[in-house]
Amino acid sequence: MNRNKLIQTLLDEPQKRWDIIVIGGGATGLGIALDAVTRGYKTLLLEQSDFAKGTSSRSTKLVHGGVRYMAQGDILLVIEALHERGLMLKNAPHLTGNQEFVIPVYTFWDVFLYTVGLKFYDLLAGRLSMGKSYFINKSKTIGRLPLLKSEGLKGGIVYHDGQFDDSRMAVALARASVENGGTVLNYFKVNSLLKNEKGKITGVKAKDLESGADYNITGKLVINATGVFADEIHRMDDPLSKPTIRPSQGVHIVLDNSFLLSNSAIMIPKTDDGRVLFAIPWYGKVVVGTTDTPLDTITLEPRALEEETDFILRTAGRYLTKPPKRGDVKCIFAGLRPLAANPDNPEATREVSRRHKISLSRSGLLSILGGKWTSYRRMAEETINKAIKAGIIEDRKCTTRNFSFYSNSKPLLSDRLRIYGDQAFEIEKIITEQPDLGELIHKELPYTKAEIVWICRNEMPRTVEDMLARRTRALFLDARASAEAGPTVAELMAKELGFGKQWQECEISRYNNLIINYT
Ligand SMILES: Cc1cc2nc3c(=O)[nH]c(=O)nc-3n(C[C@H](O)[C@H](O)[C@H](O)COP(=O)(O)OP(=O)(O)OC[C@H]3O[C@@H](n4cnc5c(N)ncnc54)[C@H](O)[C@@H]3O)c2cc1C
Repeated sequence: MNRNKLIQTLLDEPQKRWDIIVIGGGATGLGIALDAVTRGYKTLLLEQSDFAKGTSSRSTKLVHGGVRYMAQGDILLVIEALHERGLMLKNAPHLTGNQEFVIPVYTFWDVFLYTVGLKFYDLLAGRLSMGKSYFINKSKTIGRLPLLKSEGLKGGIVYHDGQFDDSRMAVALARASVENGGTVLNYFKVNSLLKNEKGKITGVKAKDLESGADYNITGKLVINATGVFADEIHRMDDPLSKPTIRPSQGVHIVLDNSFLLSNSAIMIPKTDDGRVLFAIPWYGKVVVGTTDTPLDTITLEPRALEEETDFILRTAGRYLTKPPKRGDVKCIFAGLRPLAANPDNPEATREVSRRHKISLSRSGLLSILGGKWTSYRRMAEETINKAIKAGIIEDRKCTTRNFSFYSNSKPLLSDRLRIYGDQAFEIEKIITEQPDLGELIHKELPYTKAEIVWICRNEMPRTVEDMLARRTRALFLDARASAEAGPTVAELMAKELGFGKQWQECEISRYNNLIINYT
């Protein structure tokens, strides 16, 4: 992935139309780009910031059917997602894993309810089940979760779901798209849609936010995969279109593993506000969340409200013998999910089913909204199939069901470098050749200088934030430590990417301002 070379593909053939232009480089857009390139369409994806800067790096990091959606009776959605869970775990083994969960139960009715419910979840997963669910008594529950409060505890229900690294999965999708002949560009914002005299969309006008250059790019099909920003693109299509989305914020906090001391995750099916709360081990820390707070503004950098953080701390404290306090929080991150707004009454909202929605406007804008990270592959398949059905692009079969992000040419490493899949050995090689690059970027963070160097050469990071938030997960694991690592990372990046001292200073100061949102 080399940004300058990829931009060249816009300049090389300005006359030649793309088959598909995707707006938005989150899970949805990147999934569509990979589906399209692997079917052989000439595909371009434009992302206004970095890949997965939006909701796609701020999820609970679960590859799941959704126990909650089953309780809500959305069985079809759960079956579909469980199937996709199986495919994602098979196709990206280096970025996913099998996570054991325990639901602590405090009444005999709950023992019955959740045992039966999770048996049904197992059944729906069929042969893609990740392990059987079963009841364990109180002492075994405490054996698994030593820091769980034991008062009134009747036992626990054990079940399994998938876990993953969301932003690294996004980069894997971007990279696979490029390797298969596609062009994906970060820091490229679509500002308007191009139309012909009949009012049909013929392409996009986009700006390279690094150089400031504008491009008129033509294509047979433009896809709006911008998540909570979808209405902005709808207004480019029809300035009078009414708002369809109201965002709802979901917040997570990250704690030291000393608050859980377990490889098992806790799932609380019903908190005070009726939501599910998870406490999940992740890269040696614990991710706890989430909330559901309707907001009025849509931004790329949502910020947790004080009451959301307090709610998570308070609820976690009710279940843990060592209640976490504000000062224990290593990182707070917020993500936006789209709620369907009522165009005639913007105050009234209802939760969109987690099922995605695909729509085609009169002018030919294909929009996809909602869904889950887990279902990105199926969403992409359906989106491209819809365009084929509408006669916009020629019929070609989807091939992503068995698309492996890992070639199996080398055995998967068992250590932390496993997340780099086939390329892990390249990082080891850098360390062998230059042992000083084997040093950590910060004593509290698990990343080596060699990883920073390798990422610069292969994964198109443009800023210190790209590196610390999404290529590595330093920001999410420990925001303050990541800021302390900022100068080291800026220096390594500047050397690799050919930037000067001024760039480093600017990036360090920008990053220090950013982490206020996460601390
Ligand atoms: C709190 C929370 C927890 C979640 N947890 C899970 C989970 O554990 N498992 C799961 O399966 N799902 C989960 N989800 C759902 C999942 O994260 C989302 O469905 C998914 O990330 C949405 O991806 P997206 O690509 O549609 O949107 P986004 O990731 O927001 O991507 C849209 C992109 O479009 C870009 N864009 C916007 N306008 C323009 C423009 N004009 N030009 C170019 N680019 C533009 C934005 O910059 C953005 O990067 C969770 C969601 C939330 C909110």
